[in-house]
Amino acid sequence: MIRCDFHVHTSFCDGENTPEEMVLAALEKKITRLGFSGHAHTPFDERYCMSPEGTRRYYETVRALGEKYRERITILCGLEQDLYSDPPGPGFDYLIGSVHYLKIGEEYLPLDETAEILTEAASRFFGGDMLALAEAYFDSAASLASLRPTVVGHFDLITKFNEKNALFDENDPRYLAAAKRAADALLETGALFEVNTGAMSRGFRAAPYPGRAILSYIIERGGKLLLSSDAHNAAGLLYGFDRGEAFAASLGGLFVTL
Ligand SMILES: [Zn+2]
Ligand SMILES: [Zn+2]
Repeated sequence: MIRCDFHVHTSFCDGENTPEEMVLAALEKKITRLGFSGHAHTPFDERYCMSPEGTRRYYETVRALGEKYRERITILCGLEQDLYSDPPGPGFDYLIGSVHYLKIGEEYLPLDETAEILTEAASRFFGGDMLALAEAYFDSAASLASLRPTVVGHFDLITKFNEKNALFDENDPRYLAAAKRAADALLETGALFEVNTGAMSRGFRAAPYPGRAILSYIIERGGKLLLSSDAHNAAGLLYGFDRGEAFAASLGGLFVTL
């Protein structure tokens, strides 16, 4: 099983544990490479992300831990950069580019909080058409290409509350066409795609992001994969990696590391 994890949050953003607690848990789990990916500052929603000052302390803390534990584990310092985050400062080892909001006019609608926010947004802005909301989501995902991310984070986050197609049909041609357009734009940048088990550990989904049809498409088009947990606490590290690895391997997926 893969024993590296690069999508990891701490108490500097919306995670539960300090970076050092995460390092100690990683050592216990025999992780050989650990990457931190604190949420970059998004000025319009500071509930979950790091402040500019917090980002500086986060960077220094993670670098100091890298030194302290260098004999036992390799520690990388990255950021999870939202499409609408402040631009990243220099020095980070990698960026995970993610879409967490749909920007409509001057409003930023969070996509991963509740199913109700999504259904309400569909009825307010898209005449109740959930697939139109999903199309708008993938248009935003395509524009992540402009950030040149190292890794595309949870590519189909819009399915977080869609277990058993509860909100829309993930096999609908409109849905798949929108997802493939975004995947094409991102594949062109050479970014890795996450196989992300975060919604499994939190009980929202039975399988990782992205869903089977989209993941197959990415693999067919030569996309390289990164297995990641999106851990928000120590228990989340490597969560579901056995299933994530088997799932992608069954589609011929190739995992790489950072
Ligand atoms: Zn995210
Ligand atoms: Zn994350």
